[in-house]
Amino acid sequence: MSQKLIIVGAGQAAAQAVQSLRADGFTGPITLIGDEPYGPYQRPPLSKAYLLGTLERERLFLKSDAFYQETNCELVLNASVTAIHRSDKTVQLGDGRKLSYDLLLLATGARVRRLKCPGADLPGVYYLRDIADANALQAVFSSGKRIAIVGGGYIGLEVAAVAAKRGLTVTLFEAMDRLLARSSSVTVSDFYAAEHERAGVTLKLRTGLEAIEGNGKVERIRAGGQTYDADIVLVGIGVLPNDELATHAGLAAQDGIVVDQNGMTGDPSIFAAGDCTRHIGRDGTALRLECVQNAIDQAKHVALAITGKPKPYSEVPWFWSDQYDLKLQIAGMIRPGDHAVLRGDPAARKFSVFHLRDGVLAAVEAVNAAPDYMLGKKWIADRLRVDPVRLADTTIPIKEAV
Ligand code: FAD
Ligand code: NAP
Repeated sequence: MSQKLIIVGAGQAAAQAVQSLRADGFTGPITLIGDEPYGPYQRPPLSKAYLLGTLERERLFLKSDAFYQETNCELVLNASVTAIHRSDKTVQLGDGRKLSYDLLLLATGARVRRLKCPGADLPGVYYLRDIADANALQAVFSSGKRIAIVGGGYIGLEVAAVAAKRGLTVTLFEAMDRLLARSSSVTVSDFYAAEHERAGVTLKLRTGLEAIEGNGKVERIRAGGQTYDADIVLVGIGVLPNDELATHAGLAAQDGIVVDQNGMTGDPSIFAAGDCTRHIGRDGTALRLECVQNAIDQAKHVALAITGKPKPYSEVPWFWSDQYDLKLQIAGMIRPGDHAVLRGDPAARKFSVFHLRDGVLAAVEAVNAAPDYMLGKKWIADRLRVDPVRLADTTIPIKEAV
């Protein structure tokens, strides 16, 4: 309880870890080292209200200065940890400092995957991961500009929605044959494609990016054998986990730092939480989650383990996406072969897709249907069997489907 704890990475998981550790009775000194100029903040608004200009910067921060004083947590900002020396239990900082730990929590998150095509480094190519990225994008986000968005995942779609709202001309390029191909059902993909087109976004599916061209700045892009004029390119082609510190220290990592159900790595004094980790999920498969829920819950479980009250992590993953006036909420993991059951009518812009695996509810996608999502999440946690016919019938109260 009184050991010296260092947290590497000042993001969502780190903020939760500090809060939970103190709430669970950890009394040792905590040092939080982050390579950004600020303490932990929430990233979701960066592609939503903050980019739109309706949420001010101060509202992004997860904790006040008083919180770090009250929890006796020392913030070391603008500082990057460059190595972990397990033999003498120290971490090396980029400025040469060496700090010792008894316990270490890696909460290093993820970084954007970068384009590798010709012209990828031209001025006018933007990514979106942190406040600096959002500020840079916002500065050029003016009505009438032509923005080419690469990637039909969450970043691409949320930015497309904000850009359309702000009067930019938006063209979105996705190599796959549908949007959100990895995380959503065809019904949800098709629904969002129609909504974006209705808002004036031009969608180019099955269209891989070939090059970005221009004389000293972005002027056009080449994709799918054609050329498109553009002033700005926004790239949202996924993230890579920041797991190299762990690998270089000899800890197991495979597209994410491998942790057990308590967030512990192969070294009992080193834990990890959030986007940088890979763990065994509720269905027994290894997975790396990239969402706020996982960062928060893993941090809570690490705090429980450190304070001697271990509780294996088996929470139902969930997240949300805001685009236009639509709230998409997803709980559980959709797998190929799941039986999809539609409840409600996409044309009414309020519906849910439930995913059954061997008759048991495994995932739910709800669009403007919060009650379905809430109930679905609970049913997934309870591993309930569901009657697909009753579930699809909106004349039958949803509770009567189990
Ligand atoms: P992060 O919050 O990324 O924090 C990690 C921190 O560690 C970073 O500040 C990083 O710079 C720092 N760091 C890394 N290496 C080092 C080092 N060696 N030394 C010091 N510091 C280091 N999730 C949702 O559930 N819903 C959403 O709607 C949603 N929207 C999103 C919108 C955007 C634009 C983005 C970028 C993400 C969004 N996410 C969303 C994902 C969510 O923000 C992440 O899953 C979450 O932030 C992960 O938390 P984390 O603590 O693991 O990592
Ligand atoms: P994402 O949702 O994983 O989507 C990435 C998109 O880029 C996918 O369509 C993917 O297609 C495509 N892609 C992958 N590799 C590519 C390549 N080499 N070239 C071209 N396209 C490629 O990731 P993201 O939208 O970039 O978001 C980044 C992070 O922010 C993620 O962690 C995400 O969870 C988080 N985020 C979350 C939310 C939310 O939860 N609401 C909102 C914004 C951001 P394939 O399917 O073919 O791989």
